[in-house]
Amino acid sequence: MTEKTICVLGGGIGGVAVANRLKSALGDAGRVVIIDKSPDHVFAPSFLSVLTGDRRPADIKRPLAGLSRKGIEFINAEVKAIKPEESLILAGDEQIRYDYLIVALGARANLAAVEGLADAAINLYSLDGILKLKERIETFGGGEVVILIPSMPYKCPAAPYEAAFMLDAAFRRRGLREKANISVYTVEPLPMPTAGPQVGQAIKGMLAGRKIDFKPQMTIKSVSAGKELVFADGTTKRADLLVTIPPHKAPDVVKAAGLTNEAGWIPVDPKTLKTKFDNVFALGDVTAVKLAGQYKPDKPLMLPKAGVFAHAEAEIVAANIVADITGRGTRREFDGHGSCFLELGDGTAGYSKGDFFALPHPEVSMKGPARRFRLYKILFEKWWFWRSF
Ligand SMILES: Cc1cc2nc3c(=O)[nH]c(=O)nc-3n(C[C@H](O)[C@H](O)[C@H](O)COP(=O)(O)OP(=O)(O)OC[C@H]3O[C@@H](n4cnc5c(N)ncnc54)[C@H](O)[C@@H]3O)c2cc1C
Repeated sequence: MTEKTICVLGGGIGGVAVANRLKSALGDAGRVVIIDKSPDHVFAPSFLSVLTGDRRPADIKRPLAGLSRKGIEFINAEVKAIKPEESLILAGDEQIRYDYLIVALGARANLAAVEGLADAAINLYSLDGILKLKERIETFGGGEVVILIPSMPYKCPAAPYEAAFMLDAAFRRRGLREKANISVYTVEPLPMPTAGPQVGQAIKGMLAGRKIDFKPQMTIKSVSAGKELVFADGTTKRADLLVTIPPHKAPDVVKAAGLTNEAGWIPVDPKTLKTKFDNVFALGDVTAVKLAGQYKPDKPLMLPKAGVFAHAEAEIVAANIVADITGRGTRREFDGHGSCFLELGDGTAGYSKGDFFALPHPEVSMKGPARRFRLYKILFEKWWFWRSF
């Protein structure tokens, strides 16, 4: 059998998972090359554990070069061009020809989409932002705390709410909760809308129980240097501490390759993750996976962007490429199942689990809060690094 080259773009959750599965199943039948502009794999689901001080930044990173122990080649370079018609990638100074391509380049922050946001807000979705927020929590003397969700889609739809619960717990511990007014201003109608009204109402109830104001359907227009938020309906809100989820976009290189839809994401077959090119797959945050089910007519739903799905999709793509190359193994289809832990502060977490491909709409349930769910989340991170590196 001639060796096939499989090129994986992105060494995040989806990229690392797919490269590992491919190499361990193919051995010498497959050359697996992974390309990332960052030298490290950074495990974002543990960002909030850095915020609580349970993990340090170094604990949640691994050098991607370490994948060479498994026979996976790593190229530390920016992907500059994807040429699907020629099966060619340009990365740094290198040109890589592939038999199969997997695009797992994730979503990137686009703070510039809202005037004034980059200067006024702390970005909850970057490690730098998490460290800044940790410092601010320790020195904050009280005032208006706003968590802003400016646009959808964004990855990990639970994270802003987890941050709200953690801020509440941190200020209570410091004895200044009475002096800190916490609110969530979001463009969403309900928390985690793809998970449905039951989960949304449950989270709203938890927010109310902790005196965290929930302001839905608020479209941000701009933020002034003095941290005054101006919304589309004319409402304004001053923030002493402003924490934002960044607006998201796909890396420019995938748009330039002609892989994206009008919303800017890569549409894929929901079951196989295949793009419009036969030998090109995309998975994780960079994709648009349209769900067949919906809660309201004419309100289409998309699969949330989350590591749990990037991981599950990676298993499917790897199994099908292996079957293609070797003629062995069973072809598989992604089934839309996923679960996540919801940090609730004070060492507890909730656990939400769902079938997002269910009809007539996604079926998602939530358990907890319980200490054991937080423990499972920590154990998952350990398992992830052990399995992947
Ligand atoms: C605070 C926070 C908490 C989260 N918690 C959870 C959770 O509890 N559970 C959960 O399931 N998910 C969680 N997530 C979401 C999860 O991290 C993402 O959904 C997941 O990482 C997506 O995986 P991916 O492989 O698609 O992209 P990523 O993991 O983002 O990887 C993309 C990679 O592509 C690289 N890249 C991008 N452009 C280029 C380029 N041009 N050239 C070279 N390399 C490039 C990047 O450097 C990156 O390494 C959380 C996210 C955040 C921010």
